[in-house]
Amino acid sequence: MKKARIVILGAGYAGMNTAVTLSKKLGANDASITLVNKHDYHYQTTWLHEPAAGTMDPEAARVTISTVLNTNRVHFLQDEVVEIKREEKKVLLKDGEVSYDYLVVSLGAVSETFGVPGVHEHAFTKWTLNGARQVKGHIEKQFASYHNGEDQHEGRLTFVVAGAGFTGMEFIGELSERVPELCKKYDVPREAVRLYVVEAAPMALPGFDPELVEYGMNVLESRGVEFKINTPIKEVTETGVKIGEGEEIKAETIVWATGVRGNPVIEKSGFEANRGRVKVEPDLRAPGHDDVFIIGDCALIINEEANRPYPPTAQIAMQMAKTCAHNVMTLVGGGSNLATFKPDIKGTVASLGGKEAIGVVGSKKLYGGTASFMKKMIDNRALLMLGGPLLALKKGKFPL
Ligand code: FAD
Ligand code: NAD
Repeated sequence: MKKARIVILGAGYAGMNTAVTLSKKLGANDASITLVNKHDYHYQTTWLHEPAAGTMDPEAARVTISTVLNTNRVHFLQDEVVEIKREEKKVLLKDGEVSYDYLVVSLGAVSETFGVPGVHEHAFTKWTLNGARQVKGHIEKQFASYHNGEDQHEGRLTFVVAGAGFTGMEFIGELSERVPELCKKYDVPREAVRLYVVEAAPMALPGFDPELVEYGMNVLESRGVEFKINTPIKEVTETGVKIGEGEEIKAETIVWATGVRGNPVIEKSGFEANRGRVKVEPDLRAPGHDDVFIIGDCALIINEEANRPYPPTAQIAMQMAKTCAHNVMTLVGGGSNLATFKPDIKGTVASLGGKEAIGVVGSKKLYGGTASFMKKMIDNRALLMLGGPLLALKKGKFPL
């Protein structure tokens, strides 16, 4: 009998965990497994605010795929996915194509701009390892040029974070921690540096526990962060951001964190989508497709209790990987009784730089050092799940 061909697109939390599980549980005679990813490494997307602000070496967030995946069992293809040809059951890549019997789409997300003009031209939008390196390099350059520029023009050392969601808050947390060190390194007076977070909604971290939000804002404000709440950014220009009625914050560094949409490959391939995310069936397949699973940030699932989509998180992406691998194995084995995906939300913890963090785990609110400890535990657990104790020890965050 012909071996089933399983193709997994994207080596993030969803794709890597699916590939690792399938490689361990499916016999070599049952199916071939191919993993396609842009780079030969997986990166910890949930850590990217740290290398972006420069509080972590980018290398620390990078995991070479062949060190955690049995590449004798999984054929790894380093290439860029361009389009999925659903009718022909094949995937077009930048440098070739690959055919499948079962496809797992786990290509992650890209920044959402909500049509605000100038974002792609003038803001940093890429929450990828290379994107983080770019932000880090730019910040350093801005500080380095303080004493070397011809004029001390406004905005050189003004840093604007667009959006006070978890990404924006975590990034400014790291940057605000690093600023004193940068000031010292480049002989810049602290008062020359301005740090802004601009948020459209009436509160930072909309929907999160208000007491924790207040704690978090106080921590950040004590480090000199200025919040502009209830203030949508209307345009990004070469000189800064336009807010309110004609007001402008002059800034040469805009870091965009106003939310995400599913990978553009989804819409390009003709899947019906809402902001690039496909509302998947309970078994994680795309509606009308028996052979295509969509998981991670490209998938949309509804929280029936709250009557709104679950936020796209690594926590859910990893849980989806488990159900997806189980269902792919069932289909490969000739079964049809697929498992239903049920997210098990354990909580949310956000770092604020240094030893500060906020979070809710179960029904317990966590602040400061306790929350920061918990955040590192969560980060280490993700490594443990992916690559076992060796990876956790090699790349984990210690001391806790
Ligand atoms: P990703 O992990 O982003 O992986 C997608 C993969 O696909 C990448 O390897 C990418 O290189 C590859 N890829 C993309 N396009 C192509 C292409 N065309 N061809 C080939 N390969 C491609 N969630 C939490 O639960 N907890 C947190 O603490 C948390 N912190 C976060 C902090 C930051 C700074 C950010 C940005 C996000 C955070 N999130 C957090 C959200 C979380 O990172 C995402 O929900 C999660 O990464 C989604 O997993 P994924 O596998 O769908 O995508
Ligand atoms: P988000 O959607 O959670 O937050 C984006 C914020 O930007 C919102 O508060 C929104 O009101 C604001 N915004 C939108 N348009 C704006 C505009 N024009 N001007 C100013 N503000 C604007 O997005 P995110 O923070 O990028 O997070 C993406 C996903 O990743 C979410 O699901 C989040 O839960 C997850 N995440 C989780 C963690 C964690 O658990 N520690 C950390 C980072 C991200």
